[in-house]
Amino acid sequence: MKKSKKEWDRIYIKNLEVFARHGVYPEENKLGQKFLVNAVLYTHTRKAGLKDDLTKSVHYGEAAYFMDAYMKEHTFQLIETAAEQMARAVLLQFPNLEGICLEIAKPWAPVGLPLESVSVEIERSWHRAFVAVGSNLGERENHVEQAIQALDQCEDCRVEQVSNLIVTEPYGVTDQPEFLNGMIELRTLLEPEELLEQLHKIEQEAGRERLQHWGPRTLDLDIIFYDHDVIDLPRLQIPHSDMQNREFVLEPLAELAPYIRHPLFLKTAAQMLEELRSGKIS
Ligand code: ATP
Ligand code: CA
Ligand code: CA
Repeated sequence: MKKSKKEWDRIYIKNLEVFARHGVYPEENKLGQKFLVNAVLYTHTRKAGLKDDLTKSVHYGEAAYFMDAYMKEHTFQLIETAAEQMARAVLLQFPNLEGICLEIAKPWAPVGLPLESVSVEIERSWHRAFVAVGSNLGERENHVEQAIQALDQCEDCRVEQVSNLIVTEPYGVTDQPEFLNGMIELRTLLEPEELLEQLHKIEQEAGRERLQHWGPRTLDLDIIFYDHDVIDLPRLQIPHSDMQNREFVLEPLAELAPYIRHPLFLKTAAQMLEELRSGKIS
């Protein structure tokens, strides 16, 4: 899983001064004002440090120029938006960057009181997710292939690994065609609920209809893990609440990440698969 922020190294850009036009008032958009940008770039500098090799790190000069240009080329009403959009743009631009803490301050904010500055600070990073894919209607392989492509083409997602596809007996409702199942490992900037929404869109594009629970489907995409997070919302449970009982989930997961650990059961994928299989035999 993603290393914790404590394990990341940090590169600081402090008080980068930019004259730009973000603001709610038309005067702010017309006249512009001073902004101060503070960024902590989370990365791993170990290899760069040992080899004295800049390509293994994040070039702070390039990052500063990138943010200067980004701040000037866009006009947002809110510094919340400027921070959100710029954090995303920086994370997409610099491959060795794991995360960013970004503060945008407005020392001349038109508040009418003697304050030093107002600012917004956000932290954003890449996340690692495992998505189970299944299909048992129509051109199964095509549906799975297209789902992988669609995920990779989504700008905020990068497909890192895909397991072998396995043919499996239907689960739950057994009176239906065999499934093709697999696992996809992603890096994503999307939050869990946004990722679920994106998966639903891709299911829809494959002509998915929800007629019967556990019924036949052109495409099913389930989030199995999202970092080490535990999420319990009415619409979304992570880790997937039944994954430990499903060989068609655990087998491809153990192929990609045998040592990945379930955050609640504290067992690895390989262990869960082994336990499920031995339970079946006895
Ligand atoms: P199962 O989730 O048991 O495999 P299913 O995939 O057939 O069943 P769907 O009809 O595809 O069920 O999804 C029903 C709802 O499950 C979705 O609309 C979604 O809100 C919810 N859901 C909860 N947790 C997850 C998760 N981890 N991944 C995907 N969907 C989830
Ligand atoms: Ca499912
Ligand atoms: Ca599903």
